[in-house]
Amino acid sequence: MTNIANNLEIVRSQINVACQNAQRSTETVTLLAVSKTRPADELRAAYTQGQLDFGENYLQESLEKIEQLQDLEICWHFIGPIQSNKTRPIAESFNWVHSVDRLKVAQRLSAQRPDQLPPLNICLQINISGEESKSGILPEQLPELASQVLQLPNIQLRGLMAIPASSEDPQQQRRPFARMRELLQQLQLNHPDHSELDTLSMGMSGDMDAAIAEGASIVRIGTAIFGARVYSK
Ligand SMILES: *Cc1c(COP(=O)(O)O)cnc(C)c1O
Repeated sequence: MTNIANNLEIVRSQINVACQNAQRSTETVTLLAVSKTRPADELRAAYTQGQLDFGENYLQESLEKIEQLQDLEICWHFIGPIQSNKTRPIAESFNWVHSVDRLKVAQRLSAQRPDQLPPLNICLQINISGEESKSGILPEQLPELASQVLQLPNIQLRGLMAIPASSEDPQQQRRPFARMRELLQQLQLNHPDHSELDTLSMGMSGDMDAAIAEGASIVRIGTAIFGARVYSK
């Protein structure tokens, strides 16, 4: 458990250094702790160290943890693939959804968002490396989908998310992130009245420095905080 405290400190200082190198202030980057497959007590340990944002991929698992951690003021982010018949519990229990990639899902999230809650923050997932196996829309599909999503009442489009093809080379890593930065800038130009379009969700344990260099505002970090994941399924 103390490992989590140590790891968090290491990740935070890595973010600080990356921000300094990019001449950005540290507050412009939010650390999202990706806690898929990790038990609730590990999230609680991270929370005790001041970690407030958690990202989950698997709906059933995440709903159990949300229930177990009700006493904490966690900001919950859904970052996994979404089945359109499973949107209701996401709309009811999460603050953010990073993985919206079709209008139908956005429409359902908006319709199912409870009235007493603030609008659900969403990002559109971009398949930035054009990989067959990855979800997300292609960059050329963004303008139309964004225009449609911006009209939905109970969700607020905040920006873009991507999981680029993995690479060990920092220069290679930066290219797709730079492309994402340009896509968000274009979106902002197309919709100057939407100042809430401010989010680039990009960068994981292996490429967060490159993502921060290119403007990431949320980095999604799992392994570097919780250690390697063990899948029992
Ligand atoms: C698992 C996951 C992460 C975290 O990846 P790490 O390499 O463990 O930091 C980030 N984003 C998404 C969408 C994920 O599924």
